[in-house]
Amino acid sequence: MKIVILGGGSAGVMFANRMRKEFSEDEVEITVVERSEKHIYQPAFTLLLFDLEDPKNLVRPTKDLFDEGINLITDEATKIDPQNNKVTTAKHGELSYDYLVIATGAKLDYSEPEGMKEGLDKGENVFNFYTMDGALKLRDALKKFEGGTIVSTFAQMPIKCPAAPIKFILMAEDTMRILGKRDKCKFILTTPMPAAFSRPPYMHALNSIFTKRGIEVKANFTPSEVDYGKGLMKDFGGKEANFDLLSITPPHTGEIVIENSEGVGDAAGWVSCDKNHMVNKNFLNIYGIGDATDFPTSKTASGARKQAKVLTERFKQIIRGEEPTATYDGEIICPILTRYKRVMFANFNYTESLSPALESYINWVLKVHMLRPLYFNLMLNGLM
Ligand SMILES: Cc1cc2nc3c(=O)[nH]c(=O)nc-3n(C[C@H](O)[C@H](O)[C@H](O)COP(=O)(O)OP(=O)(O)OC[C@H]3O[C@@H](n4cnc5c(N)ncnc54)[C@H](O)[C@@H]3O)c2cc1C
Repeated sequence: MKIVILGGGSAGVMFANRMRKEFSEDEVEITVVERSEKHIYQPAFTLLLFDLEDPKNLVRPTKDLFDEGINLITDEATKIDPQNNKVTTAKHGELSYDYLVIATGAKLDYSEPEGMKEGLDKGENVFNFYTMDGALKLRDALKKFEGGTIVSTFAQMPIKCPAAPIKFILMAEDTMRILGKRDKCKFILTTPMPAAFSRPPYMHALNSIFTKRGIEVKANFTPSEVDYGKGLMKDFGGKEANFDLLSITPPHTGEIVIENSEGVGDAAGWVSCDKNHMVNKNFLNIYGIGDATDFPTSKTASGARKQAKVLTERFKQIIRGEEPTATYDGEIICPILTRYKRVMFANFNYTESLSPALESYINWVLKVHMLRPLYFNLMLNGLM
C-alpha cells in the first residue's frame, strides 16, 4: 500500500511516525511531501512573547523528525487529482498514491483587514505572533512599552489555537502589573463572537477574570480596517478601538493546493471531512488531519496528536481487511496562560467539556517547562 502525506508539520510527522512503527516498509510505503526544511514548534510562540522560551529551542530540521523508512520529498504539492490518485509537485513531477493524507495546516491571509499588512510592515505599533519573526518583534515592543492601550484581536473563526489572543492579553496585563506600569495601561480584547471563549465552564471563568482584572472585551467585533498612523481599528459594524500596541490575528484559510484540487475542500480551502471518521466527504481514499481540516473543533497540536492515533488505528483496520471503525471525538486540550505561574487547561471534545476551569501552578509547569520536550521527544515520534 502506498500512502502519500501532504505536509510534514505537527500532524504529518506524528501520523507518519506512528504508521512507520506499526507497519514494515513492505506493507506500507510512506512518502511525505513537505516544502519547508525547518520545523517550528508554534505552540511556544505565546511563551516567546514573555521571554518564557528561547527561540533556538523551537526549531529543528524537518528531515531529522522522521523515522527511518519514511520517504521525505522537500517540495510543494501544487494539485491533487483525486480521480486518478495523483498529486502534482512543483519540482518532483507526479506522485501516485493508494491513500492520501492531507496535513497541510492553515495559511495566514494578510490581504485583510485593510491596512493590517501596512501596519505589520511598518512594525511600530501593529504586530502578530503567528510567525517566529512576528512573535519576536512583539516581544521587543512589549519590553519597550511604557503605557497606553494594548489591543488583542481575534479574526473570524477558524484560527489556530483560539485561546492564543486571550493568552496574550492576560499575560500582557500581568506583565505590566509586575513591571509597575499597570496604572498607565488599558487592555482590550476584540472578538467576532458573542464572548471571548465559547465553551463553558472556561467561558464563565475567563469572563470573570477579564472583569476582575479590568480587561475590556469588545464582542461581535470583526476587524475591517487598521490605521496604524492614527492607532485606530474599525470593525464592519462601525465600532472602533484605539490602540498604542495592536496584536492582530490575520484571518486563516486552507492552503492553495486544496483550492486547486476540485472536490477536496470547501470555499475557504479547508479539507472537507467527516468529523469522526476523518475521511474526505467525496473521496474515500483521502483523509484529512490537523489544521487543514474542517473539523468543528479547535485547531491545535493536541488535536492533531489524537487524530494521528485514530487515523493509524483506522489504517490498521483497513490493512487487516476490516471496516474501519476508529473515530475522532473532537478532543483537544488548550493551555490558557492566565497570569505568571498560572495556566488553565481547556479540555473538551465535540460534545462536552472534560476538565474543570482551574488556574493552577502544576498546569503552568506542564505548559511552560514540559510540553516542548514532550513534543519533540515523544509526541512527534508517535510515542505519546
Ligand atoms: C501562536 C500559536 C499558538 C498555539 N498554541 C497552541 C497550544 O498551546 N497548544 C496546541 O496544541 N496547539 C497550539 N497551536 C496550534 C498548533 O501549532 C497547530 O494546531 C499544529 O501545528 C497543527 O499541525 P498541522 O500539521 O496541522 O499544521 P502545521 O504544523 O502548520 O503543518 C503544516 C505543514 O504543511 C506544510 N505545507 C502546507 N502546504 C503545503 C504544500 N502545498 N506542499 C508541501 N507542504 C505544505 C507546511 O510547510 C507545514 O509544515 C498554536 C499555534 C499558534 C500559531
